[in-house]
Amino acid sequence: MMPDEDALSYYCDAGKIASAVLEKGSSLIKIGNQVLEIVESIEQMVEDQGAGLAFPLNLSFNEDAAHDTASSEEQRIFSGGDVVKLDLGVHLEGYIADTAVTIDLGDNALLLEASEAALTNAIEMVKPGVTSGALGRIIQHEIEARGYHPITNLTGHGLARYSIHTPPSIPNISYQGGAILEEGMVFAIEPFASTGSGRVSEKRRIEIFQQTAVKPVRLPSARKLLESVRKRHGMPFARRWVGDGKQDLALASLINQGIVRSYPVLSDVPGSLVSQHEHTVIVTSDGCIVTTA
Ligand code: MN
Ligand code: MN
Repeated sequence: MMPDEDALSYYCDAGKIASAVLEKGSSLIKIGNQVLEIVESIEQMVEDQGAGLAFPLNLSFNEDAAHDTASSEEQRIFSGGDVVKLDLGVHLEGYIADTAVTIDLGDNALLLEASEAALTNAIEMVKPGVTSGALGRIIQHEIEARGYHPITNLTGHGLARYSIHTPPSIPNISYQGGAILEEGMVFAIEPFASTGSGRVSEKRRIEIFQQTAVKPVRLPSARKLLESVRKRHGMPFARRWVGDGKQDLALASLINQGIVRSYPVLSDVPGSLVSQHEHTVIVTSDGCIVTTA
């Protein structure tokens, strides 16, 4: 069943904003520019459009595939040769648009083409009755045909109100079966192409967190942190957004109590390069609407 008229227009408007901000933001990724400044200015663009961030702007370099963002002490600048993933989530009243592009500051056109062609071809296949495994098959094919590895342990995902990871999951490799697509499903497709192993693991760097439970908390700094993320409705937040000098102690305590979870940076092997492209789609009776086109 399609989302009702209001939900549909929120999804589509969020998608338009995400697409415009991502395009404008991409133009700021230039050698010598400061990462923190660019991340903050792109996040500000979303708010200037009257929308909210569904998660902190993910900006991940080279072998880092996902879940990095600027820290408040961020010193990095963009350098020649960098492969930069910009992954943006915008929401209107909780209806989310999730979209990503890769910016090449080196000589990696074919790597970028691989994830982009995988996304384009997968989107063309979307309609009721098709399986998520079939989308994975075309994604894997387009990436391997160009000599790269799809990242097998990252997937696209369903979207629901205020929720970024719901069924169906959309694999980046061929899969027998999987979810059968139905009219009205909303999900993100996000192929990753890698020069490395095609698998990501967790780095020690952690900048993104999410509240996953509501429990009474005694530690004042932890209580204050929860209060400051309450209006996020459980959507992820950045350490940078809650920085008051006591945030690390508060986060450690909240993680210990099972109230907050962390999202470590996910990376392929050191020295590898990863590209990503992502759009959000809504399945219609005979195809799909790409909200972030
Ligand atoms: Mn994304
Ligand atoms: Mn996504």
